[in-house]
Amino acid sequence: MSDTASYPTTPPLDVPGGWHSADLLVPLGEISALKGIYDWVVIGGGITGIAAATRLGKIAPDDSVLLVDARPIGWGASGRNSGFLLDLPHKFDLETRDRERLNKIMHLNRFAIDGLREHTEALGIDCDWSDVGKLQGAVKKRGTGMMRGYIEMLDWLGVDHEVYDRDQCDALMGTSHYHAAVFTPGSVLVDPMNMVRGLAVNLPANVTLADDCPVIKFDSANGGYALTLKPSEGETDVIAKKVILATDPYTSQFGALKGRILPTITFASITRPLSKNERARYRGKLNWGLTPADAAGTTLRMTAEGRILIRNHYAAAPKFKATDHDLGFAREAHRKGIDTRWPELENLPITATWGGVVSLSGNHQTYFGEVADGLYASSCYNGVGLTRGWTAGQLLADLANGKDSKQLDYIQDVSGMPNRLPPDPFLSVGANSRLKLAQWQAGAEV
Ligand SMILES: Cc1cc2nc3c(=O)[nH]c(=O)nc-3n(C[C@H](O)[C@H](O)[C@H](O)COP(=O)(O)OP(=O)(O)OC[C@H]3O[C@@H](n4cnc5c(N)ncnc54)[C@H](O)[C@@H]3O)c2cc1C
Repeated sequence: MSDTASYPTTPPLDVPGGWHSADLLVPLGEISALKGIYDWVVIGGGITGIAAATRLGKIAPDDSVLLVDARPIGWGASGRNSGFLLDLPHKFDLETRDRERLNKIMHLNRFAIDGLREHTEALGIDCDWSDVGKLQGAVKKRGTGMMRGYIEMLDWLGVDHEVYDRDQCDALMGTSHYHAAVFTPGSVLVDPMNMVRGLAVNLPANVTLADDCPVIKFDSANGGYALTLKPSEGETDVIAKKVILATDPYTSQFGALKGRILPTITFASITRPLSKNERARYRGKLNWGLTPADAAGTTLRMTAEGRILIRNHYAAAPKFKATDHDLGFAREAHRKGIDTRWPELENLPITATWGGVVSLSGNHQTYFGEVADGLYASSCYNGVGLTRGWTAGQLLADLANGKDSKQLDYIQDVSGMPNRLPPDPFLSVGANSRLKLAQWQAGAEV
Protein backbone atom coordinates (compact mmCIF):
# COMPACT_ATOMS: atom_id res chain seq x y z
CA MET A 1 0.00 0.00 0.00
CA SER A 2 1.47 3.38 -0.96
CA ASP A 3 1.47 6.40 1.37
CA THR A 4 -0.36 8.69 -1.03
CA ALA A 5 -3.96 8.67 -2.22
CA SER A 6 -4.94 6.48 -5.18
CA TYR A 7 -7.24 7.61 -7.98
CA PRO A 8 -8.49 4.28 -9.37
CA THR A 9 -9.43 3.91 -13.02
CA THR A 10 -13.16 3.39 -13.43
CA PRO A 11 -13.88 0.06 -15.17
CA PRO A 12 -14.86 0.90 -18.76
CA LEU A 13 -18.41 0.86 -20.12
CA ASP A 14 -17.44 -1.86 -22.57
CA VAL A 15 -19.52 -4.41 -24.51
CA PRO A 16 -21.30 -6.33 -21.72
CA GLY A 17 -21.60 -10.11 -21.39
CA GLY A 18 -24.25 -11.79 -23.52
CA TRP A 19 -25.97 -14.18 -21.12
CA HIS A 20 -28.96 -11.83 -21.04
CA SER A 21 -30.05 -8.61 -22.68
CA ALA A 22 -27.89 -5.63 -21.65
CA ASP A 23 -31.17 -3.83 -20.76
CA LEU A 24 -31.41 -6.06 -17.69
CA LEU A 25 -28.08 -4.79 -16.37
CA VAL A 26 -29.60 -2.03 -14.26
CA PRO A 27 -28.25 -1.00 -10.84
CA LEU A 28 -29.73 -2.95 -7.92
CA GLY A 29 -28.51 -0.68 -5.13
CA GLU A 30 -29.90 2.27 -3.26
CA ILE A 31 -27.54 5.23 -3.67
CA SER A 32 -29.85 7.53 -1.67
CA ALA A 33 -29.23 5.30 1.37
CA LEU A 34 -25.51 6.18 1.45
CA LYS A 35 -24.12 7.31 4.83
CA GLY A 36 -20.82 9.02 5.59
CA ILE A 37 -19.31 6.37 7.90
CA TYR A 38 -19.27 2.55 7.70
CA ASP A 39 -17.63 -0.14 9.77
CA TRP A 40 -16.81 -1.95 6.53
CA VAL A 41 -16.61 -1.03 2.87
CA VAL A 42 -16.31 -3.87 0.38
CA ILE A 43 -15.11 -2.55 -2.98
CA GLY A 44 -16.12 -4.73 -5.94
CA GLY A 45 -19.50 -6.43 -6.36
CA GLY A 46 -18.33 -9.54 -8.22
CA ILE A 47 -18.42 -13.00 -6.66
CA THR A 48 -15.62 -12.16 -4.17
CA GLY A 49 -17.21 -8.95 -2.92
CA ILE A 50 -20.70 -10.43 -2.71
CA ALA A 51 -19.29 -13.37 -0.72
CA ALA A 52 -17.47 -11.02 1.66
CA ALA A 53 -20.54 -8.81 2.21
CA THR A 54 -22.79 -11.85 2.69
CA ARG A 55 -20.43 -13.27 5.30
CA LEU A 56 -20.08 -9.92 7.11
CA GLY A 57 -23.87 -9.86 7.34
CA LYS A 58 -23.74 -13.19 9.13
CA ILE A 59 -20.76 -12.80 11.48
CA ALA A 60 -21.00 -9.05 12.19
CA PRO A 61 -24.75 -8.34 11.96
CA ASP A 62 -24.51 -5.17 14.06
CA ASP A 63 -21.80 -3.61 11.89
CA SER A 64 -22.64 -1.34 8.96
CA VAL A 65 -21.38 -2.62 5.60
CA LEU A 66 -21.26 -0.85 2.24
CA LEU A 67 -20.78 -2.94 -0.91
CA VAL A 68 -19.83 -0.66 -3.77
CA ASP A 69 -19.25 -1.37 -7.46
CA ALA A 70 -18.45 0.94 -10.35
CA ARG A 71 -20.93 -0.81 -12.64
CA PRO A 72 -24.30 -2.53 -12.20
CA ILE A 73 -23.93 -5.93 -10.52
CA GLY A 74 -23.29 -8.57 -13.19
CA TRP A 75 -21.46 -6.22 -15.56
CA GLY A 76 -17.94 -7.41 -14.63
CA ALA A 77 -16.21 -10.77 -15.05
CA SER A 78 -18.38 -12.44 -12.41
CA GLY A 79 -21.49 -11.93 -14.54
CA ARG A 80 -19.95 -12.61 -17.96
CA ASN A 81 -17.92 -15.78 -17.48
CA SER A 82 -18.56 -19.32 -18.73
CA GLY A 83 -20.30 -20.38 -15.51
CA PHE A 84 -18.20 -23.41 -14.46
CA LEU A 85 -18.06 -23.84 -10.67
CA LEU A 86 -14.95 -26.00 -10.72
CA ASP A 87 -14.33 -28.51 -7.95
CA LEU A 88 -10.91 -29.72 -9.09
CA PRO A 89 -7.56 -27.94 -9.45
CA HIS A 90 -7.44 -26.26 -12.85
CA LYS A 91 -4.94 -24.62 -15.22
CA PHE A 92 -1.73 -23.61 -13.40
CA ASP A 93 -2.72 -25.50 -10.24
CA LEU A 94 -2.22 -28.68 -12.26
CA GLU A 95 1.50 -27.96 -12.58
CA THR A 96 2.26 -29.13 -9.04
CA ARG A 97 2.42 -32.68 -7.69
CA ASP A 98 2.10 -31.49 -4.09
CA ARG A 99 -0.72 -33.75 -2.94
CA GLU A 100 -1.46 -31.80 0.23
CA ARG A 101 -1.79 -28.55 -1.71
CA LEU A 102 -4.06 -30.12 -4.34
CA ASN A 103 -6.28 -31.67 -1.65
CA LYS A 104 -6.61 -28.28 0.05
CA ILE A 105 -7.58 -26.61 -3.24
CA MET A 106 -10.23 -29.30 -3.84
CA HIS A 107 -11.54 -28.89 -0.30
CA LEU A 108 -11.83 -25.09 -0.77
CA ASN A 109 -13.53 -25.44 -4.16
CA ARG A 110 -16.05 -27.94 -2.78
CA PHE A 111 -16.62 -25.68 0.22
CA ALA A 112 -17.55 -22.92 -2.27
CA ILE A 113 -19.87 -25.17 -4.28
CA ASP A 114 -21.64 -26.29 -1.08
CA GLY A 115 -21.95 -22.68 0.12
CA LEU A 116 -23.25 -21.40 -3.21
CA ARG A 117 -25.68 -24.30 -3.47
CA GLU A 118 -27.01 -23.56 0.00
CA HIS A 119 -27.41 -19.82 -0.70
CA THR A 120 -28.93 -20.09 -4.17
CA GLU A 121 -31.37 -22.78 -2.98
CA ALA A 122 -32.36 -20.97 0.21
CA LEU A 123 -32.87 -17.70 -1.66
CA GLY A 124 -34.67 -19.35 -4.59
CA ILE A 125 -32.20 -17.92 -7.13
CA ASP A 126 -32.96 -19.08 -10.66
CA CYS A 127 -29.46 -19.53 -12.09
CA ASP A 128 -29.90 -22.84 -13.95
CA TRP A 129 -27.87 -24.64 -11.28
CA SER A 130 -26.83 -27.90 -12.98
CA ASP A 131 -25.03 -30.71 -11.17
CA VAL A 132 -23.82 -32.21 -14.44
CA GLY A 133 -20.03 -32.31 -13.92
CA LYS A 134 -17.83 -31.45 -16.87
CA LEU A 135 -15.57 -32.85 -19.55
CA GLN A 136 -11.90 -32.05 -20.13
CA GLY A 137 -11.53 -32.53 -23.91
CA ALA A 138 -8.65 -33.34 -26.27
CA VAL A 139 -8.79 -32.79 -30.03
CA LYS A 140 -5.45 -34.17 -31.28
CA LYS A 141 -2.19 -35.67 -30.06
CA ARG A 142 -1.09 -32.66 -27.99
CA GLY A 143 -4.38 -32.46 -26.09
CA THR A 144 -4.48 -36.23 -25.67
CA GLY A 145 -1.00 -36.18 -24.09
CA MET A 146 -2.11 -33.46 -21.69
CA MET A 147 -5.32 -35.33 -20.92
CA ARG A 148 -3.29 -38.44 -20.04
CA GLY A 149 -1.30 -36.41 -17.52
CA TYR A 150 -4.59 -35.13 -16.09
CA ILE A 151 -5.99 -38.66 -15.79
CA GLU A 152 -2.83 -39.79 -13.99
CA MET A 153 -3.31 -36.94 -11.55
CA LEU A 154 -6.97 -37.85 -10.98
CA ASP A 155 -5.98 -41.48 -10.32
CA TRP A 156 -3.24 -40.37 -7.94
CA LEU A 157 -5.66 -38.09 -6.06
CA GLY A 158 -8.38 -40.76 -6.02
CA VAL A 159 -10.88 -38.56 -7.90
CA ASP A 160 -13.79 -40.31 -9.69
CA HIS A 161 -13.65 -39.97 -13.46
CA GLU A 162 -14.63 -41.66 -16.69
CA VAL A 163 -12.80 -41.54 -20.01
CA TYR A 164 -14.99 -40.97 -23.07
CA ASP A 165 -13.82 -42.06 -26.52
CA ARG A 166 -14.76 -40.21 -29.70
CA ASP A 167 -18.13 -41.98 -30.01
CA GLN A 168 -19.10 -41.24 -26.41
CA CYS A 169 -18.08 -37.59 -26.89
CA ASP A 170 -20.20 -37.51 -30.02
CA ALA A 171 -23.20 -39.01 -28.25
CA LEU A 172 -23.09 -36.31 -25.57
CA MET A 173 -21.93 -33.27 -27.54
CA GLY A 174 -23.15 -34.11 -31.03
CA THR A 175 -19.69 -33.56 -32.52
CA SER A 176 -16.91 -35.94 -33.52
CA HIS A 177 -14.39 -33.10 -33.14
CA TYR A 178 -12.98 -34.50 -29.89
CA HIS A 179 -10.66 -37.48 -29.93
CA ALA A 180 -11.40 -38.17 -26.25
CA ALA A 181 -12.43 -36.49 -23.02
CA VAL A 182 -12.39 -37.19 -19.32
CA PHE A 183 -15.60 -36.70 -17.38
CA THR A 184 -15.53 -35.68 -13.71
CA PRO A 185 -18.83 -35.38 -11.85
CA GLY A 186 -18.16 -32.67 -9.24
CA SER A 187 -18.30 -29.37 -11.17
CA VAL A 188 -21.52 -27.39 -11.45
CA LEU A 189 -22.72 -25.25 -14.36
CA VAL A 190 -24.61 -22.02 -13.73
CA ASP A 191 -25.89 -18.91 -15.44
CA PRO A 192 -23.35 -16.56 -13.84
CA MET A 193 -25.23 -13.31 -14.36
CA ASN A 194 -28.41 -14.58 -12.73
CA MET A 195 -26.36 -16.08 -9.92
CA VAL A 196 -24.50 -12.89 -8.93
CA ARG A 197 -27.50 -10.63 -9.40
CA GLY A 198 -29.68 -13.05 -7.43
CA LEU A 199 -27.16 -13.07 -4.58
CA ALA A 200 -26.87 -9.27 -4.66
CA VAL A 201 -30.60 -8.62 -4.32
CA ASN A 202 -30.63 -10.86 -1.25
CA LEU A 203 -27.82 -9.27 0.76
CA PRO A 204 -28.19 -9.25 4.56
CA ALA A 205 -30.03 -6.38 6.22
CA ASN A 206 -26.87 -4.61 7.49
CA VAL A 207 -25.38 -4.39 3.96
CA THR A 208 -26.06 -1.36 1.76
CA LEU A 209 -25.43 -1.91 -1.93
CA ALA A 210 -24.28 0.97 -4.14
CA ASP A 211 -23.63 -0.23 -7.68
CA ASP A 212 -23.01 1.96 -10.74
CA CYS A 213 -21.03 4.05 -8.27
CA PRO A 214 -17.24 4.05 -8.87
CA VAL A 215 -14.68 4.71 -6.17
CA ILE A 216 -12.63 7.55 -7.66
CA LYS A 217 -10.32 8.29 -4.71
CA PHE A 218 -8.95 6.00 -2.02
CA ASP A 219 -6.70 6.91 0.88
CA SER A 220 -5.83 5.89 4.42
CA ALA A 221 -7.23 8.25 7.07
CA ASN A 222 -7.20 8.29 10.90
CA GLY A 223 -6.60 4.56 11.28
CA GLY A 224 -9.23 3.76 8.63
CA TYR A 225 -9.86 4.60 4.98
CA ALA A 226 -11.37 7.55 3.12
CA LEU A 227 -13.15 6.97 -0.17
CA THR A 228 -14.71 9.30 -2.68
CA LEU A 229 -17.59 7.75 -4.61
CA LYS A 230 -19.05 9.05 -7.84
CA PRO A 231 -22.72 8.12 -8.18
CA SER A 232 -24.60 9.37 -11.27
CA GLU A 233 -24.85 12.82 -9.69
CA GLY A 234 -22.15 14.57 -7.65
CA GLU A 235 -19.54 12.97 -5.41
CA THR A 236 -19.83 11.46 -1.91
CA ASP A 237 -17.13 11.01 0.72
CA VAL A 238 -17.24 7.92 2.88
CA ILE A 239 -15.07 6.83 5.81
CA ALA A 240 -14.55 3.13 6.53
CA LYS A 241 -12.95 1.49 9.54
CA LYS A 242 -11.91 -1.49 7.42
CA VAL A 243 -11.94 -2.18 3.69
CA ILE A 244 -12.08 -5.37 1.66
CA LEU A 245 -10.73 -5.02 -1.87
CA ALA A 246 -12.65 -7.46 -4.07
CA THR A 247 -11.52 -5.79 -7.26
CA ASP A 248 -9.47 -8.64 -8.79
CA PRO A 249 -7.71 -7.16 -11.88
CA TYR A 250 -8.21 -3.58 -10.60
CA THR A 251 -6.61 -4.18 -7.19
CA SER A 252 -3.36 -2.32 -8.05
CA GLN A 253 -5.48 0.74 -8.85
CA PHE A 254 -6.05 1.04 -5.10
CA GLY A 255 -2.32 0.99 -4.32
CA ALA A 256 -2.23 -2.71 -3.33
CA LEU A 257 -0.17 -5.42 -5.10
CA LYS A 258 1.22 -2.72 -7.39
CA GLY A 259 3.19 -4.08 -10.34
CA ARG A 260 2.18 -7.66 -9.52
CA ILE A 261 -1.08 -8.13 -11.44
CA LEU A 262 -1.41 -8.66 -15.18
CA PRO A 263 -4.95 -7.72 -16.32
CA THR A 264 -5.75 -10.10 -19.15
CA ILE A 265 -8.78 -10.36 -21.36
CA THR A 266 -10.44 -13.51 -22.64
CA PHE A 267 -13.30 -13.68 -25.13
CA ALA A 268 -16.65 -15.45 -25.28
CA SER A 269 -19.62 -15.67 -27.64
CA ILE A 270 -23.09 -17.11 -27.16
CA THR A 271 -25.74 -18.17 -29.67
CA ARG A 272 -29.48 -17.99 -29.52
CA PRO A 273 -31.25 -21.25 -28.49
CA LEU A 274 -31.43 -23.95 -31.16
CA SER A 275 -34.67 -23.81 -33.12
CA LYS A 276 -36.89 -26.88 -33.41
CA ASN A 277 -35.32 -27.75 -36.78
CA GLU A 278 -31.78 -27.23 -35.52
CA ARG A 279 -32.59 -29.29 -32.46
CA ALA A 280 -33.67 -32.12 -34.78
CA ARG A 281 -30.36 -31.87 -36.70
CA TYR A 282 -28.21 -31.67 -33.54
CA ARG A 283 -27.50 -35.24 -32.40
CA GLY A 284 -26.09 -34.42 -28.96
CA LYS A 285 -27.70 -33.73 -25.58
CA LEU A 286 -28.41 -30.46 -23.82
CA ASN A 287 -26.74 -29.12 -20.68
CA TRP A 288 -23.08 -30.09 -20.70
CA GLY A 289 -19.77 -28.24 -20.38
CA LEU A 290 -16.25 -28.88 -21.63
CA THR A 291 -12.96 -27.27 -20.69
CA PRO A 292 -9.87 -27.85 -22.85
CA ALA A 293 -7.09 -30.29 -21.94
CA ASP A 294 -4.68 -27.63 -23.23
CA ALA A 295 -5.25 -24.47 -21.14
CA ALA A 296 -4.89 -22.36 -24.30
CA GLY A 297 -7.75 -24.27 -25.96
CA THR A 298 -11.51 -23.71 -26.14
CA THR A 299 -14.16 -23.86 -23.41
CA LEU A 300 -17.63 -24.90 -24.58
CA ARG A 301 -21.10 -25.14 -23.12
CA MET A 302 -24.42 -26.30 -24.47
CA THR A 303 -26.92 -24.77 -22.07
CA ALA A 304 -30.13 -26.42 -20.89
CA GLU A 305 -32.10 -24.20 -23.27
CA GLY A 306 -29.87 -25.07 -26.26
CA ARG A 307 -27.51 -22.09 -26.51
CA ILE A 308 -23.84 -22.68 -27.36
CA LEU A 309 -21.25 -20.70 -25.41
CA ILE A 310 -17.68 -20.69 -26.70
CA ARG A 311 -14.65 -19.09 -25.01
CA ASN A 312 -11.02 -18.86 -26.06
CA HIS A 313 -8.07 -16.50 -26.75
CA TYR A 314 -6.29 -14.26 -24.26
CA ALA A 315 -4.62 -10.84 -24.61
CA ALA A 316 -3.01 -8.42 -22.16
CA ALA A 317 -5.52 -5.69 -21.23
CA PRO A 318 -3.66 -2.71 -19.71
CA LYS A 319 -6.78 -0.57 -20.32
CA PHE A 320 -9.14 -3.27 -18.94
CA LYS A 321 -11.00 -3.37 -22.24
CA ALA A 322 -11.14 -5.29 -25.53
CA THR A 323 -10.44 -3.30 -28.67
CA ASP A 324 -12.96 -3.45 -31.54
CA HIS A 325 -10.29 -5.30 -33.50
CA ASP A 326 -9.95 -7.94 -30.74
CA LEU A 327 -13.72 -8.39 -30.57
CA GLY A 328 -14.00 -8.77 -34.36
CA PHE A 329 -11.19 -11.32 -34.35
CA ALA A 330 -12.79 -13.26 -31.47
CA ARG A 331 -16.20 -13.32 -33.15
CA GLU A 332 -14.71 -14.75 -36.35
CA ALA A 333 -12.73 -17.34 -34.39
CA HIS A 334 -15.87 -18.31 -32.44
CA ARG A 335 -17.94 -18.53 -35.63
CA LYS A 336 -15.35 -20.89 -37.09
CA GLY A 337 -15.13 -22.86 -33.83
CA ILE A 338 -18.89 -23.52 -33.81
CA ASP A 339 -19.17 -24.26 -37.54
CA THR A 340 -16.22 -26.69 -37.45
CA ARG A 341 -17.70 -28.62 -34.54
CA TRP A 342 -21.30 -28.62 -35.73
CA PRO A 343 -21.36 -28.24 -39.55
CA GLU A 344 -25.05 -29.22 -39.54
CA LEU A 345 -25.78 -26.06 -37.50
CA GLU A 346 -23.73 -23.82 -39.80
CA ASN A 347 -24.40 -20.12 -39.26
CA LEU A 348 -26.34 -20.64 -36.04
CA PRO A 349 -26.67 -16.95 -35.07
CA ILE A 350 -24.23 -15.67 -32.45
CA THR A 351 -26.16 -13.13 -30.39
CA ALA A 352 -23.22 -11.62 -28.47
CA THR A 353 -19.42 -11.57 -28.37
CA TRP A 354 -17.60 -9.97 -25.46
CA GLY A 355 -14.30 -9.78 -23.64
CA GLY A 356 -13.89 -10.01 -19.88
CA VAL A 357 -10.91 -9.02 -17.77
CA VAL A 358 -9.28 -11.48 -15.39
CA SER A 359 -6.01 -11.21 -13.48
CA LEU A 360 -2.91 -13.31 -13.97
CA SER A 361 0.21 -13.37 -11.82
CA GLY A 362 3.69 -14.04 -13.18
CA ASN A 363 4.31 -16.93 -10.77
CA HIS A 364 0.67 -18.21 -10.87
CA GLN A 365 0.16 -17.31 -7.19
CA THR A 366 -3.21 -16.11 -5.92
CA TYR A 367 -3.08 -13.41 -3.25
CA PHE A 368 -5.21 -13.64 -0.09
CA GLY A 369 -4.69 -11.62 3.07
CA GLU A 370 -4.26 -8.29 4.83
CA VAL A 371 -2.33 -5.98 2.47
CA ALA A 372 -2.12 -3.08 4.94
CA ASP A 373 -3.63 -2.34 8.37
CA GLY A 374 -7.37 -2.94 8.08
CA LEU A 375 -7.17 -3.46 4.31
CA TYR A 376 -7.86 -6.98 3.00
CA ALA A 377 -7.65 -8.31 -0.56
CA SER A 378 -7.96 -11.41 -2.67
CA SER A 379 -6.79 -11.28 -6.27
CA CYS A 380 -5.08 -13.08 -9.15
CA TYR A 381 -7.34 -16.07 -9.70
CA ASN A 382 -5.51 -16.75 -12.97
CA GLY A 383 -8.77 -16.95 -14.91
CA VAL A 384 -10.69 -19.38 -12.66
CA GLY A 385 -12.15 -17.38 -9.81
CA LEU A 386 -15.76 -18.41 -9.32
CA THR A 387 -15.29 -21.04 -6.63
CA ARG A 388 -12.05 -19.53 -5.32
CA GLY A 389 -13.62 -16.05 -5.29
CA TRP A 390 -16.62 -17.16 -3.23
CA THR A 391 -14.42 -18.97 -0.71
CA ALA A 392 -11.89 -16.12 -0.56
CA GLY A 393 -14.57 -13.45 -0.03
CA GLN A 394 -16.15 -15.38 2.84
CA LEU A 395 -12.78 -16.14 4.43
CA LEU A 396 -11.49 -12.55 4.09
CA ALA A 397 -14.46 -11.54 6.24
CA ASP A 398 -13.49 -14.25 8.75
CA LEU A 399 -9.82 -13.21 8.73
CA ALA A 400 -10.74 -9.57 9.31
CA ASN A 401 -12.99 -10.57 12.24
CA GLY A 402 -10.43 -12.90 13.83
CA LYS A 403 -12.49 -16.05 13.15
CA ASP A 404 -10.38 -19.19 12.71
CA SER A 405 -11.34 -22.22 10.64
CA LYS A 406 -9.77 -25.10 8.78
CA GLN A 407 -10.72 -23.38 5.53
CA LEU A 408 -8.95 -20.18 6.57
CA ASP A 409 -5.77 -22.17 7.29
CA TYR A 410 -6.08 -23.93 3.95
CA ILE A 411 -6.58 -20.79 1.86
CA GLN A 412 -3.61 -19.14 3.53
CA ASP A 413 -1.52 -22.25 2.82
CA VAL A 414 -2.36 -22.34 -0.90
CA SER A 415 -2.10 -18.57 -1.51
CA GLY A 416 1.08 -16.58 -2.05
CA MET A 417 2.53 -13.28 -3.18
CA PRO A 418 2.40 -12.69 -6.96
CA ASN A 419 5.88 -11.76 -8.12
CA ARG A 420 6.89 -8.37 -9.50
CA LEU A 421 6.23 -7.86 -13.18
CA PRO A 422 8.08 -5.59 -15.60
CA PRO A 423 6.42 -2.21 -16.29
CA ASP A 424 4.31 -1.51 -19.36
CA PRO A 425 4.75 -1.44 -22.35
CA PHE A 426 7.29 -4.28 -21.79
CA LEU A 427 4.75 -6.24 -19.72
CA SER A 428 1.96 -6.18 -22.32
CA VAL A 429 4.33 -6.88 -25.22
CA GLY A 430 5.98 -9.77 -23.36
CA ALA A 431 2.66 -11.18 -22.12
CA ASN A 432 1.06 -10.99 -25.56
CA SER A 433 4.02 -12.83 -27.11
CA ARG A 434 3.72 -15.62 -24.51
CA LEU A 435 -0.06 -15.85 -24.88
CA LYS A 436 0.20 -15.95 -28.69
CA LEU A 437 2.90 -18.62 -28.50
CA ALA A 438 0.72 -20.74 -26.16
CA GLN A 439 -2.18 -20.39 -28.58
CA TRP A 440 -0.05 -21.25 -31.60
CA GLN A 441 1.33 -24.31 -29.77
CA ALA A 442 -2.21 -25.35 -28.84
CA GLY A 443 -2.99 -25.51 -32.59
CA ALA A 444 -6.05 -27.69 -33.19
CA GLU A 445 -6.89 -27.75 -29.47
CA VAL A 446 -8.27 -24.18 -29.84
C1 LIG B 1 -15.18 -14.94 -20.53
C2 LIG B 1 -14.78 -15.44 -19.17
C3 LIG B 1 -15.04 -16.76 -18.81
C4 LIG B 1 -14.69 -17.22 -17.53
N1 LIG B 1 -15.11 -18.46 -17.13
C5 LIG B 1 -14.92 -18.86 -15.86
C6 LIG B 1 -15.47 -20.08 -15.40
O1 LIG B 1 -16.19 -20.77 -16.12
N2 LIG B 1 -15.18 -20.48 -14.12
C7 LIG B 1 -14.41 -19.71 -13.29
O2 LIG B 1 -14.15 -20.12 -12.15
N3 LIG B 1 -13.92 -18.51 -13.68
C8 LIG B 1 -14.18 -18.06 -14.94
N4 LIG B 1 -13.73 -16.83 -15.33
C9 LIG B 1 -13.01 -16.00 -14.35
C10 LIG B 1 -13.98 -15.42 -13.31
O3 LIG B 1 -15.04 -14.76 -13.96
C11 LIG B 1 -13.23 -14.44 -12.40
O4 LIG B 1 -12.07 -15.06 -11.90
C12 LIG B 1 -14.11 -14.03 -11.22
O5 LIG B 1 -15.35 -13.56 -11.68
C13 LIG B 1 -13.42 -12.96 -10.37
O6 LIG B 1 -14.37 -12.50 -9.43
P1 LIG B 1 -14.11 -11.19 -8.57
O7 LIG B 1 -15.35 -10.89 -7.85
O8 LIG B 1 -12.88 -11.38 -7.75
O9 LIG B 1 -13.73 -10.05 -9.62
P2 LIG B 1 -14.67 -9.30 -10.68
O10 LIG B 1 -15.84 -10.09 -11.06
O11 LIG B 1 -13.74 -8.83 -11.75
O12 LIG B 1 -15.20 -8.08 -9.84
C14 LIG B 1 -14.39 -6.98 -9.53
C15 LIG B 1 -15.33 -5.80 -9.44
O13 LIG B 1 -14.59 -4.65 -8.99
C16 LIG B 1 -15.25 -3.54 -9.52
N5 LIG B 1 -14.38 -2.36 -9.48
C17 LIG B 1 -13.16 -2.22 -10.05
N6 LIG B 1 -12.72 -0.96 -9.88
C18 LIG B 1 -13.66 -0.30 -9.17
C19 LIG B 1 -13.79 1.03 -8.70
N7 LIG B 1 -12.87 1.96 -8.96
N8 LIG B 1 -14.89 1.36 -7.99
C20 LIG B 1 -15.85 0.43 -7.72
N9 LIG B 1 -15.79 -0.84 -8.18
C21 LIG B 1 -14.71 -1.20 -8.90
C22 LIG B 1 -15.55 -3.96 -10.96
O14 LIG B 1 -16.58 -3.17 -11.54
C23 LIG B 1 -15.94 -5.42 -10.79
O15 LIG B 1 -17.33 -5.62 -10.76
C24 LIG B 1 -14.03 -16.35 -16.61
C25 LIG B 1 -13.77 -15.02 -16.97
C26 LIG B 1 -14.15 -14.56 -18.22
C27 LIG B 1 -13.89 -13.12 -18.57
